[in-house]
Amino acid sequence: MADAVSVLVVEDEDDIRNLVALNLRRSGFNVLTAGDGETALALAREHVPPVVLLDLMLPDMSGTEICQALRADRKTQGVYVIMVTARTEESDRITGFEVGADDYVPKPFSVRELVLRVQAASRRMARNEPESEVTGNLELGELTLNVSAHRVWVSGEELELTSTEYKLLLHLAESAGRLCSRGELLKEVWELPPSLNTRTVDTHVKRLRQKLRAASSYIETVRGAGYRFRSFSP
Ligand code: CA
Repeated sequence: MADAVSVLVVEDEDDIRNLVALNLRRSGFNVLTAGDGETALALAREHVPPVVLLDLMLPDMSGTEICQALRADRKTQGVYVIMVTARTEESDRITGFEVGADDYVPKPFSVRELVLRVQAASRRMARNEPESEVTGNLELGELTLNVSAHRVWVSGEELELTSTEYKLLLHLAESAGRLCSRGELLKEVWELPPSLNTRTVDTHVKRLRQKLRAASSYIETVRGAGYRFRSFSP
């Protein structure tokens, strides 16, 4: 049997940590746990788990600081970070995405939904390559995507995107001129059921627009429906 996929659960509340770890183990994951940030970073650097479940509020440092440290370290920069936050921490949640979390789960969460998100994340990490019909360069206005190299430029300047931001941009750009609903994006980019909470999508679009600078207006909001990448005549 292949080695189980590792997940690092970072949570200072013992009851929650044990419950989540138990359910992930039952689903076949190899679970590492940490109750504080220092332990979390040490375990992440030693084991490089593909998925990290990160509580925002910890005794010694915040989830955003841990996320930043993971992204700053070559070894751990590509791990999939699911940030777990309380609903009242709206501003911190946004900060979490700005330092590069890949998904967001509000507390109180359903353990079943959390396990589902970890399963989707680990599937994505195992495959690693976004599916694309395009090879070579995709040119849309000021934006250039090199699909095989996963690199993106705006007006000739290269952007630094997380893997999730890249997948989101690729899906939107490949669907240029067509409406993409939030549910579709959740399904295609995060591989989650379209019925789940879609704020993850909105926060990522916001962040992506900031990074796109001169090309930010290419992603249009279709009120009440989703997003559409501007169409460019060939
Ligand atoms: Ca906490």
